[in-house]
Amino acid sequence: NKTLRLILGDQLNSQHSWFLRTDASVTYVLMEVRQETDYVVHHIQKVMAFFAAMRQFAATLQEQGHQVIYFKISDPINKQSFEHNLQDLLTTHFFKKLEYLLPDEYRLDQELQRIAQALPIPTEVYDTEHFYSTRAELGNFFKNRKTFVMENFYRYMRQKHQVLMAGDEPETGQWNYDQDNRQKMPANHLPTAPLLFANNIAEIKLEVETAGIATMGFLPEGDFGWPINRAQALALLEYFVQNSLPLFGTFQDAMTPHSWSLYHARLSFCMNSKMLAPREVVQRVIREWQESAGQIAFHQVEGFIRQVLGWREFMRGMYWLKMPDLEKANFLENTQKLPVWYWTGKTKMNCLKHAISQSLHYAYAHHIQRLMVTGNFALLAGSHPDEVDAWYLGIYIDAIQWVEITNTRALSQFADGGQIGTKTYVSTAAYINRMSSYCQGCYYDKNKKIGDRACPFNSLYWNFLDQHESKLAKNPRISMIYKAWYNMEPETKAAILEQAQQYLENIDQL
Ligand code: FAD
Ligand code: SF4
Repeated sequence: NKTLRLILGDQLNSQHSWFLRTDASVTYVLMEVRQETDYVVHHIQKVMAFFAAMRQFAATLQEQGHQVIYFKISDPINKQSFEHNLQDLLTTHFFKKLEYLLPDEYRLDQELQRIAQALPIPTEVYDTEHFYSTRAELGNFFKNRKTFVMENFYRYMRQKHQVLMAGDEPETGQWNYDQDNRQKMPANHLPTAPLLFANNIAEIKLEVETAGIATMGFLPEGDFGWPINRAQALALLEYFVQNSLPLFGTFQDAMTPHSWSLYHARLSFCMNSKMLAPREVVQRVIREWQESAGQIAFHQVEGFIRQVLGWREFMRGMYWLKMPDLEKANFLENTQKLPVWYWTGKTKMNCLKHAISQSLHYAYAHHIQRLMVTGNFALLAGSHPDEVDAWYLGIYIDAIQWVEITNTRALSQFADGGQIGTKTYVSTAAYINRMSSYCQGCYYDKNKKIGDRACPFNSLYWNFLDQHESKLAKNPRISMIYKAWYNMEPETKAAILEQAQQYLENIDQL
């Protein structure tokens, strides 16, 4: 009756019912494997954060009296894949049963099913007890509907889980407070500094270097600031509700070169690794609002809860509804490589320079930087969605395919033809200038479409619309913009397209 329980690197849920009691017949196994470090080039901080968090998780389980087997990346007996390590363990330890938690990634879900089927012993799969919704819940909710509107799913989630509700109605009488949020940050305003932890990861760093794992980005000298255990994850949540929540919504879409995290929670890694559950994040935020006696405005709170209870659960449901087709989708038939400076930040375009540089330094950029700067440009440049996915899946600390590909390939790159996003997230310099101060001090002129130093976004934007007219002009959320294009003088249009062509041909030099 010996059972082996596999815990994947993004399943560090210490509150799971598996751990309620110790059991001498149960052994847990966690593995650092090349299979996971090498399927894409990851940011060095992402590799460090996952390995460090896994090691701390395993150590805590052991302290609690659980039996744990841990494969370090450097262990000589490590066969570097789940399948081979599991085969070895099952034969050497005579386990009678394998149990695992539902993987969040399609790739691992398929693989573990295949491994389980081939084993001579029984296997059992358990829920991760993390999400609000099940894998199939969104699919059932939208059954027989042609469009997938996030807002509808969000309202259903609020009702079902009684979050900010008074019976069937929203607690404040209104569902959506977007109009009160999303302001530009005033020039002299300095947001809260991010809370960073003093973690020592020297040992893991050496092991990863010795193993010769290819990574991107930078590791800071000295302490490692990302949370790597539950206590730190909870401390980051506390820090967020006390310091950033009061202005979260207001500056949720703002961008500035002077702060890399603004009023964002930076909780995505904690939640995606499952050190924190979305439920406890939502409940803590609501409690802070209730106890603030009006100090924290409701729109800040609703803006945040919409992200966690709405967008995060929506993306997970859409992932399971659309995979594996989503992985191949390329509605706009884009073919180009990403510009080389996506790996260095060395471009004269100030917005991209800042968004990419901070991603390389911190493995983090907030939503609007990802969507309206790097994602926007990648789409205008005609980048192949595989290229774009690989970059996003590698560079961000929180990047796990279920939440990366839905945001990148679908929402940002429109590669699913608008099922998740419903419109294209492209813009000229006008949007970036409205939400940031990047354009001040940029080499390029935000007001110029053509000529010397004209902002590349301006010509590439119209070029994009022209190029994809047959696929986009009929979309009700995009068709309005085409009117402006059709109304332009033919000479102006030709000059814009010519400018765009020049930029596209010299994209690595922009
Ligand atoms: P906050 O702005 O403080 O938001 C709070 C929480 O809401 C986040 O922690 C996150 O869990 C959730 N959330 C917010 N927006 C989304 C969203 N669109 N989808 C799902 N959850 C959301 N998020 C990831 O977790 N992993 C990714 O790989 C990822 N890739 C992205 C790629 C692109 C192109 C875009 C546009 C967005 C991507 N996002 C991804 C969503 C979002 O940008 C991040 O969740 C967010 O920036 C994380 O930082 P934060 O914790 O400070 O978020
Ligand atoms: Fe970016 Fe153009 Fe503004 Fe420069 S002018 S920061 S390239 S939007």
